[in-house]
Amino acid sequence: MNEYNRMSKTKYIFVTGGVTSSLGKGIIAASLAKLLQAQNFKVTIQKFDPYINVDPGTLNPYEHGECFVTDDGAETDLDLGHYERFLNVNTSQANNVTTGRVYQSVIEKERKGEFLGKTVQVIPHITNEIKERMQLLGESGEYDIVITEIGGTVGDIESLPYIESVRQLIWDLGRENALVIHLTLIPFLAAAGELKTKPTQHSVKTLMESGILADIIVCRTEHELTEELREKLALFCNVKREAIIQSIDVDTIYDVPLKMLDEGLDKVVLEKLKLQPKQPHQLDAWNGFLNRLKNPQHRIKIGLVGKYVELQDSYKSILEAIIHAGAVNETEVEVISLHSEYIDESNVQQELKPLDGLIVAPGFGERGIEGKITAIAYARKNNIPFLGICLGMQMAVIEYARNQVGLPDANSTEMDPSCKSPVIDLMETQKSIVKKGGTMRLGAWDCSLNSGTITSEIYAKKSISERHRHRYEFNNAFTDQVFDDKFIVAGTNPETGLVEVIEYKDHPWFVGVQFHPEYKSTVSDPHPLFKDFVKASLAKKLEY
Ligand code: GLN
Repeated sequence: MNEYNRMSKTKYIFVTGGVTSSLGKGIIAASLAKLLQAQNFKVTIQKFDPYINVDPGTLNPYEHGECFVTDDGAETDLDLGHYERFLNVNTSQANNVTTGRVYQSVIEKERKGEFLGKTVQVIPHITNEIKERMQLLGESGEYDIVITEIGGTVGDIESLPYIESVRQLIWDLGRENALVIHLTLIPFLAAAGELKTKPTQHSVKTLMESGILADIIVCRTEHELTEELREKLALFCNVKREAIIQSIDVDTIYDVPLKMLDEGLDKVVLEKLKLQPKQPHQLDAWNGFLNRLKNPQHRIKIGLVGKYVELQDSYKSILEAIIHAGAVNETEVEVISLHSEYIDESNVQQELKPLDGLIVAPGFGERGIEGKITAIAYARKNNIPFLGICLGMQMAVIEYARNQVGLPDANSTEMDPSCKSPVIDLMETQKSIVKKGGTMRLGAWDCSLNSGTITSEIYAKKSISERHRHRYEFNNAFTDQVFDDKFIVAGTNPETGLVEVIEYKDHPWFVGVQFHPEYKSTVSDPHPLFKDFVKASLAKKLEY
């Protein structure tokens, strides 16, 4: 037994999932963390993903939803976005670990000779690496509680080393320092008119076969669990009645912390970990946000143009940032998804006229870019508030160059490497890079805002820091040609001169940003750009 760990003050909570994927482990973990934070505990959440990619940066959004980017430039799972939005605390590279990263580091150690003479095996070498990484944030001494979400579903072949690591860690740490929350589904069989517990029983059993006894079962359900059913579950799953927690479907994910509070999830957790609440729950700000969210005074429509719009998770942070900004403005925002591949001159008016605002999303590659440019031209000419994010900003530059400046062949070399007017080009620092994984311009970079711009007014400061994820940039060789007294540079990177923000002044609200403001919007600190964009969109609507 590891005596050091037994004495360590950090407590560990592991969240596993059973029955199906997509039950919302990330939201449950974030909600629990919120309740603990509201009682003045310092909490962080980390996610361990069983896939072999070193990070999700090389995954198409259709595969795994949005790739979330942290200040330190980690390309991570979108659940880290939920953690930041709920807790208003930054995450980092250490908060997201994948099987690829674990194996990469074990193999590097093997090549260095660190295991010289030994056979390198899943147990103990891979599990040791996982256990070390699971304790990394806890060992910093910064946190009272570390919540670790294990991706995937118990019983999956690829999650076995993680489950085994949790088993070993609980033993090392001691039962009073670690617990397991298992999230399962209680399906409702319409034909029988009944909620069914069997899948949960099986999933708890699968966990037990790996040597883990779940301490708390969180049950996702469409219908209220009866007292009888809760008792039955407790009996079959080896937990006390109060450790059966119902997680019923709700209108907004931001309701989940309060639902978990009603169910006493945090109370059971603290009792099991032998911790006393440090203060009564401080949830006034959270409740205030929910109150504004649920009692809007206005309603607007914002179009989101992208090429992955079929999948909600592709633009998760943008959608959440809009929700935060809507609440501040007491405005319900209906987001109309517009597939960039299907927008052209023949339908742009019909699609965009009903909108009060337009966002053109980030993206990679050629597919759908002409639709984005057509949509931007319409928004610019028809005074529709416009926010272009990363690729959306680059397309706004191309639109202006083609339609106003007289550079009909303006393009990005990402789309047309031999174009004659490459107004968007590969960044100098990217030219020698051949490997695709983790090599973009990533994470937080400074930007100096020019005075007299909408953006500097919105931020109410001159120097900002925002997160990035791109390879291409505005080509400064075209500065004199593209920018004029209406289409202006509003912000640049102080060291490189790279254009970070553009504005079109002959318009109520037209801003393009090379960075991703959506990654920094949280419930308690909604992003200024999104807040102002929603405000401008509302103003446009109220004008009519
Ligand atoms: N594909 C563009 C680039 O790499 C934009 C990236 C993005 O929208 N995140 O520069």
